Formats: sequence, C-alpha cells, structure tokens
Amino acid sequence: MNRHNKVYRLLNLSAAGALDENEQMQVQDHVVQCDSCRDELSDWVLLADTLKKLPTPQAPSALILKMHRLLELRMACQRESRWNWAILSFLVLFSWIAAGMNWFFVQLFDIPLARWLDVSSMTVRAAYIGLTWLATALAAGLLGKHLQHKEGNL
Ligand SMILES: [Zn+2]
Repeated sequence: MNRHNKVYRLLNLSAAGALDENEQMQVQDHVVQCDSCRDELSDWVLLADTLKKLPTPQAPSALILKMHRLLELRMACQRESRWNWAILSFLVLFSWIAAGMNWFFVQLFDIPLARWLDVSSMTVRAAYIGLTWLATALAAGLLGKHLQHKEGNL
C-alpha cells in the first residue's frame, strides 16, 4: 500500500481527532504535498465541525427517571436472586439433615407409637411419609404462589 492510500484511509479519523500523534503527523506531512488528500481532509473537517455544531439530543427527564427506576429494580432483583439462592441452599442442606434425623426418630418411636395407636409400625411409617410429602407439597405450593404473586407485581 503506497503512502497516499494509507493516509487517505486515515483522513476521516484525522478530522475527528481520533488518530494518535504519530498517525496525525503522517497525515499532516502528506496533505501538504497531496492536493487530493488535502481536499478530502478539508471536506471531512467541514463535516466534523458541522456535526459538532448540531444540538445534542437530550432524553426527556421522565424517561431518565423511568430508566433509573428500572435499573434500581433490576439491581434489587439481582440482590434478591442471590439471597434466594442462599436460602434455597440452606433449605436443601437443612432438609437433608432433618430427613436423616426424622428417620432416626421414626425408627426409635414407631413401635411405641404403633402400640399406642394399636396399628402396625408400617402404618405409622407410611403415615409419617405421607404427612411429610403432604407438608412438602404444601410448602412448595405456597412458595410457588408467593413467587407468582411477586412476578405479577414486577
Ligand atoms: Zn494523497
């Protein structure tokens, strides 16, 4: 690529003031000698100056306020999401520990409870498992309803 072509490609950036010092010097040195590039640079400078004089559009204050609220809401959602993950992790861990402990207590008390209720120990265990499932389903349903209500408000 000869010098003219190389400089010619930089003329628009030179007019915009986007070149580094070395490139700007190359352009200045070349346009002194080359009429074509000097005319082209002159056009680009005129265009850049005209663009600088155009009024900068300002966003309406209501739009800025709305965007600010949306950003705050998004940040609050992200914080809540992290918090929800922490709670969920804790609940999973807690449920595993509780399930292990429950099984231990069921093993310990199912026979006395079965004698007291006059049913088999399998009935007590089945009832325990059924109640646990029911409580879990109820908790999951309430949590889902709560989340649905929250998403409806967003
Ligand atoms: Zn040239």
